[in-house]
Amino acid sequence: MSHRSFPTITTLGSHSALQILRGAHDEDLPNLVIAPRGKDGLYRRYPFVDEVLSIERYGDFPRLEEDLSSRGAVMVPHGSFVAYLGEEVNARMRVGYYGNREVLRWEGSRDLQRRWLSAADIPQPREYTDLAAIDAWPVLVKTFGAAGGSGYFLARSSEQLAQELAARGLDQGPRRYTVQQYVLGVTLYIHYFQSVLRDRLEILSMDRRYETNVDGLGRLPQQVQAEIQPQPSYVVVGNSELVLRESMLEEAYQMGERVVAASKALVSPRGLWGPFCLETLITPDLRFHVIEISCRIVAGTNLFVAGSPYAAFFFDEPMSTGRRIAREIREAYQAGRLDEIVG
Ligand code: AMP
Ligand code: AMP
Repeated sequence: MSHRSFPTITTLGSHSALQILRGAHDEDLPNLVIAPRGKDGLYRRYPFVDEVLSIERYGDFPRLEEDLSSRGAVMVPHGSFVAYLGEEVNARMRVGYYGNREVLRWEGSRDLQRRWLSAADIPQPREYTDLAAIDAWPVLVKTFGAAGGSGYFLARSSEQLAQELAARGLDQGPRRYTVQQYVLGVTLYIHYFQSVLRDRLEILSMDRRYETNVDGLGRLPQQVQAEIQPQPSYVVVGNSELVLRESMLEEAYQMGERVVAASKALVSPRGLWGPFCLETLITPDLRFHVIEISCRIVAGTNLFVAGSPYAAFFFDEPMSTGRRIAREIREAYQAGRLDEIVG
């Protein structure tokens, strides 16, 4: 079969692009990356990248769309797509797009996410709309539009909460933050893949995030902490591996299945497919608390370019999430079913 006739796996140069491009290469699909000048050099370093398209800035992307469409490109979105292109450009993109675009609106709104997860019977931290009703401290304040955990802060009491809100100018005008129960537990991010072609949900890998300075605080003796009273911050710097107790794995699957089922009822009949991630915190009673859902490949999967302990239960060769996406696209193309997964 000629290589040319296959769809070209296309993505933006950032986040998990290398994994996506490498996955396309491993599945024998052509690949292409679009990167702004200055960031494009990275992608030219690697021989598995077939083509690098340089643009001046991300705002120029819509001008490429016609050319990409005529070449049969399939865009694979990742965590930077909304940040760099905006929700509007994503939703209206004329190039083939892997995933259900109707999910974007649900993913982009904290309120809709909560509704979706509640419909799927997924435990979530309590959220307080009435600040006077907070009955368990500390709470975590999440400002809207905060990316990668920056801009969050912890409050220990109602006085401190009021002070911190005022210090940030958040006490004026319409509310630009949410206040959540602080869940004291271990973070675990579960990387799922819902396959349309094989009609099954796979857990491909898991990670935990490494955040500064919250993951460093435990290295200070308690007396020092008491003296300097550090304010924890949640800025992500990287990801590390973790395998889950096997006794909790079935619940992890069932949560993922409930999320997919709920998406079919709420979002659109075809629901959610492809990679998604539930960001969880696990408490000492071994319960999951879900803080967020990402409906695309997450950066934590970059740990598993060469495969993972979980992917090995489904595949005989190393299978990253990037490669899994490419395989699904290849299988759909070969079965004449591309339109079922690319919109
Ligand atoms: P970057 O390409 O590193 O500038 O990242 C683009 C966006 O993706 C940032 O706004 C981050 O919020 C998000 N991001 C990047 N790396 C990670 C990560 N390891 N974990 C979570 N989010 C990430
Ligand atoms: P998020 O932006 O929702 O992915 O959260 C960023 C980080 O903040 C997480 O990785 C956690 O470390 C922390 N976090 C978020 N929500 C909570 C919560 N309700 N309780 C405790 N920590 C949280």
